[in-house]
Amino acid sequence: MTTASRQDALELARTSYRAISLYSPDRTPCELDLSDNTNLWGAAPAAVVTIRSAASSALTRYPALYAPGLKAALAGHVGVRAENVVTGCGSDDVLDSAIRAFAEPGDRVAHPEPSFAMIPIFARMNGLDPVAIPLRADLDIDADALLATGARIIYICSPNNPTGTLASPGAIERVIDGAPGIVILDEAYAEFAGVNAAASAPARARLLVVRTMSKAFGLAGLRIGYGCGAPEIVAAVEKSRGPYKVSALAEQAGTNALRDDRKWVDAHVRQVVELRARFATELGELGLVPIRSHANFVLVPVERAQSIAASMRASGVAVRPFEGLAGIGDALRISIGPWPVMERCLSALREALA
Ligand code: PMP
Repeated sequence: MTTASRQDALELARTSYRAISLYSPDRTPCELDLSDNTNLWGAAPAAVVTIRSAASSALTRYPALYAPGLKAALAGHVGVRAENVVTGCGSDDVLDSAIRAFAEPGDRVAHPEPSFAMIPIFARMNGLDPVAIPLRADLDIDADALLATGARIIYICSPNNPTGTLASPGAIERVIDGAPGIVILDEAYAEFAGVNAAASAPARARLLVVRTMSKAFGLAGLRIGYGCGAPEIVAAVEKSRGPYKVSALAEQAGTNALRDDRKWVDAHVRQVVELRARFATELGELGLVPIRSHANFVLVPVERAQSIAASMRASGVAVRPFEGLAGIGDALRISIGPWPVMERCLSALREALA
C-alpha cells in the first residue's frame, strides 16, 4: 500500500480510536513470569483433566449461547442465583460489555487512579470519556470526588490493581448510595482478601460486581469472567455481550473446577496470604516499603522501575514496572508464588538494586 492509501485506511476507523493505543505490556516469554498476577501454582486440576479428556464435539459444535451450566456453578460459588450471573470471555469482556450497556456515547466513566489500566481503554473503545480520580493519600477511593464527576458509570476495584489495597466499605457504600448510574465493583482478587460483595449484589439496584476465574482458579488462558447483580442488571450486560462468548471447553472446565477444586483454591489462597506477608518482610530487609496488599501481588515503590525491571528480566525474572503512578511514583508489581520462586525474585531484585 502507498502512504496515501495507508492514511485512507487509518481514517476509516472511528475518529475517537486514534486516541486509543493498543494495550500491549511486555509479554516476551521469561523464565519466571511474575508480571501478570496469575496463579503460579498452576491451574485448578479438574479443569486440566476436563480439557485433556474433552470430546471433539466441544470443538465442532457451537457452545451454549450464554453458558447456563457455568452460570449455575458460579452462582453456587458466590452464593447467588443463576439469574444473578452473567459470564464472559474473561472479566475484561464483562467489564467492556457493562461499560457499553450502561452508558451512551459521550457519557463519562469515573475510575480511581491508579487502578486497572483497561478501564479508560474500554471507556474510549465504547465512545465514552474516562475521568480519573486520584486515590486518597491513604490509598482509599475518594468517594466524594468520584460522585462529584456525575459519571453515568463509576468503576471501583477492590482489592485494587495495581496497589493491592482495599476500598473501605464505608466509601464503597457512599458511592453506591449516591451514584446517579451504575457502579461496577471489580473483585478480580476477592479470594485473596476474603471479601465477597458479589453475594449481596443482587439486592442492589445499581451495582454490578465483576469476578474472574483467571486468578485464584489459575484459568487465565481459558478466559472465564463473570458479573453478579440484580437480574435486570445482568440481563443488560448479557445483551451487550452477545452469544457464544464462553467456549464449550471453558464452560466445561470452569464448571468442573467450581465443583471439584474448591479445596485446591482455598489451600493456594492461604499460601498466597502467608507468602505475601513473608515477601513483604523480605522487601523491607532490602530497604523497600511495599504497600500492604490484599491481593496475589505486591506493589513496591522503587526508583527507576523500568530499568530495575529490565535488569531483573535479564536474569530471568519478569515483574511489572509502573512509572510515575499517581501519589506513589515508580513501582514494581510482583505476583506472589511458591517460596522458591519468590527467593529467586528477591535475589534478582537485590542484584538489580545494586
Ligand atoms: N480486573 C482486574 C482488576 C484485573 O487485574 C484483571 C486482569 N489483570 C482483569 C479484571 C481481567 O481479567 P480477566 O479478563 O482475565 O478475567
